[in-house]
Amino acid sequence: MFELFKSQCVLCDMSIDSNISLCEGCRKDLPMVEFACSICALPLKESNKSNFCGKCINQTSYVDYAINLFHYAVPIDYLIGQMKFHQELTVVAVLADLLKNHIEAFNSVHGLPDVFLPVPLYKTRLVERGFNQALEIIKPLAKSQHIPVILDVISRSKETKTQTNLNKLERKKNLAGSFTMLKKLAYSHVVIVDDVVTTGATTQELAKLLKNSGVKTVGVLSLARADLN
Ligand SMILES: [Zn+2]
Ligand SMILES: [Zn+2]
Repeated sequence: MFELFKSQCVLCDMSIDSNISLCEGCRKDLPMVEFACSICALPLKESNKSNFCGKCINQTSYVDYAINLFHYAVPIDYLIGQMKFHQELTVVAVLADLLKNHIEAFNSVHGLPDVFLPVPLYKTRLVERGFNQALEIIKPLAKSQHIPVILDVISRSKETKTQTNLNKLERKKNLAGSFTMLKKLAYSHVVIVDDVVTTGATTQELAKLLKNSGVKTVGVLSLARADLN
């Protein structure tokens, strides 16, 4: 599908000699996160030397580590919207390529996971959208590292409201029981994949289910992290 070796940058329309439609200039200008909490990937100020955000210092987390590439800001929010709501395949390929090029983060600190788990979508949403964006963005990385992607072990059993406007208790209630384990897992290191992590409540709920099923290490990999706690 992506065999073309000439394309146009999805951001500035410049013609480029690459099958990945993002020019070097636009790639360099992306809002990379430099300092982040090592447990939840919340962007931190450079002055925070502890590597943890206030929340993760004071609370136990089911997630052991999180790796995130970008702030949820211009133009990443635009690209993610193009992928999610307009199914732009060239944009999916660009975002998947950015994730693939970030693999060193795993190798150096955490080792490679046994398996990737894209955050499951509720089935009516999957039908509406036609694809699970978390699955699409992880495919090239999973393929190049020979890491399997699991899809059929957890189902999303209820539609959850957008978490952003809810307080902590409401978020917990909103998510409680939203995921169900369908099979026994035989993995010790699982990385949950999502396009955007907003409050981290969804990944915590999934990680809790994984830990309760015997998984030892749970990581989270995301393209963008909203600066929300
Ligand atoms: Zn460009
Ligand atoms: Zn944190």
